[in-house]
Amino acid sequence: MIEGRLFVISAPSGAGKTTLLKRVMERVSGLSFSVSHTTREPRDGEEEGVDYHFISQTVFLDMIEKGLFLEYAEVHGNLYGTSHQSVLEQLKKGIDIVLDIDVQGASIVRGSDALTGAHIFIAPPSLAELERRLRGRDTESEKHVRVRLENAVIEMQDACKYDYLIVNDQLDQTVDLFTAIIWAERARSHRFPSGKPITGIVK
Ligand code: 5GP
Repeated sequence: MIEGRLFVISAPSGAGKTTLLKRVMERVSGLSFSVSHTTREPRDGEEEGVDYHFISQTVFLDMIEKGLFLEYAEVHGNLYGTSHQSVLEQLKKGIDIVLDIDVQGASIVRGSDALTGAHIFIAPPSLAELERRLRGRDTESEKHVRVRLENAVIEMQDACKYDYLIVNDQLDQTVDLFTAIIWAERARSHRFPSGKPITGIVK
């Protein structure tokens, strides 16, 4: 049975991942975004079930207890996790899934024999540029900006563990590069064990 592919994307907060993913999802068909669960408060404009499933710490801990997460991690003082069920159901249907998760979550997925896929790290052009982007957001307090910058330095150390590293300098070029990676991954020959490409798989 042919299954969908996982695209695991990590980036320091402020590297431009959300805008990038939105553009790539508009351009490439057959890609589904995995909506994570989080204990973080919604930001202005964020929608329940679209950006995240916003849940309490009690509910999150209960989900951990019940083994409902494929992976979860504490990031910037909040809990984030990917539901097992929704990801596996879609992969079994042959749908490709994008997991936007932090470096800890990506490391858990990388360690799983059952889940293979392409891991892509999005880096900012520099830490100074990252700081400029974070401050430009206006959604973060000074304390949160500092936490996210300190975490960025740690997260960047994991970049070499990913299959692909994209420096998000010019957004249009980054979108092109990301899209090319998806197409290249979909065309990998080991996906066609019979030696014959199956119509409809390369979208
Ligand atoms: P934000 O609060 O800015 O939306 O996300 C903060 C960080 O949490 C980002 O690095 C994002 O990739 C990560 N994140 C979002 N969802 C998940 C998840 O389900 N699991 C893990 N491990 N990290 C996540």
